[in-house]
Amino acid sequence: MPLKKKILVTGGAGFIGSNLVDRLIKKGNRVFVFDNLSSGKMEFIEQHLEKPDFTLIKGDLLDHDAIERACKGTDLVFHVAANPDVKLGASDTKVHFDQNILATYNLLEAMRKTGTRKIAFTSTSTVYGEASIMPTPENYGPLIPISLYGASKLACEALITSYSHTFEMQAWIFRFANIVGPHSTHGVTVDFIKKLKDNPLKLEILGDGKQEKSYLHVSECVNSIIFAIEKSNEEVNIFNIGSEDTISATGIGKVVMEEMGLSDVEFIYTGGSRGWKGDVPRMRLDIEKLKSIGWKPAYTSEKSIRDTTRVLLTGN
Ligand code: NAD
Repeated sequence: MPLKKKILVTGGAGFIGSNLVDRLIKKGNRVFVFDNLSSGKMEFIEQHLEKPDFTLIKGDLLDHDAIERACKGTDLVFHVAANPDVKLGASDTKVHFDQNILATYNLLEAMRKTGTRKIAFTSTSTVYGEASIMPTPENYGPLIPISLYGASKLACEALITSYSHTFEMQAWIFRFANIVGPHSTHGVTVDFIKKLKDNPLKLEILGDGKQEKSYLHVSECVNSIIFAIEKSNEEVNIFNIGSEDTISATGIGKVVMEEMGLSDVEFIYTGGSRGWKGDVPRMRLDIEKLKSIGWKPAYTSEKSIRDTTRVLLTGN
């Protein structure tokens, strides 16, 4: 499906959403951002505010009327808005239910009522839980998430696939590895930079530092999802989105330390194999399906982390 459309991006002022919006505008689409600015930032989208092909709708997905109004006349919705903080579920059991499941239900209802037929959803590797097959393919099962965040995203996927079937919609579900890059406001790289700015002699690393995960640069993430939508046309299209290798938490600490020009940093581990309750210590996604349609990442996990650190340090 060529992307020259009226596109609604929920969460378009956030980290991944704003990078996606940049690309969609560059491709000549008419883009509407729907965002409550809870973690999104005006500075990420302000360069578009005066453009005729861009509209910012300040609204909340928990407001039925607002999202229904926003859906009217759109060809495709990128549903990016969510609460993405995996750790939070251990202390707040309602946030992912409201911001992810209920918000997605509200959006799907708005789409059903307005006849909006196509949805692309930013899901996550955490739906797999602690997968016994690595790299993990899309058809891995059973899916047993271990965080409330992962559970909420799996519930969203299920709502989206069942709405697609019942109401003749079409869906693209993207299960992301860890995404990094410009506009990152959370995650391990942001956390390490902050900690080392506060104290350049010590770095606290959650867990034993041996957690091995895949990281993908947001520019590649955005390229791959647009590519996948253009190249696939099933009723439900599910793709893993990640790099082909991993980096450890200690490895990330070393990259951040080097990029900050520090050489004498003591790494202090909080201990245990996982960083927090619900953390999946090993994650690498099988991206053969994405490769089979002709897309391949150019960056390794380390390069993505290094570039992100540079960009965040120079304030870009
Ligand atoms: P983010 O917090 O930067 O972006 C979320 C955006 O959604 C923000 O702009 C926020 O203001 C908006 N939002 C939140 N709740 C809303 C609501 N109720 N109504 C309207 N807007 C709302 O997060 P991100 O890292 O850019 O993540 C984007 C998406 O990708 C999320 O769905 C997340 O679960 C998913 N994801 C992210 C990663 C990652 O590594 N960053 C990995 C896997 C999946």
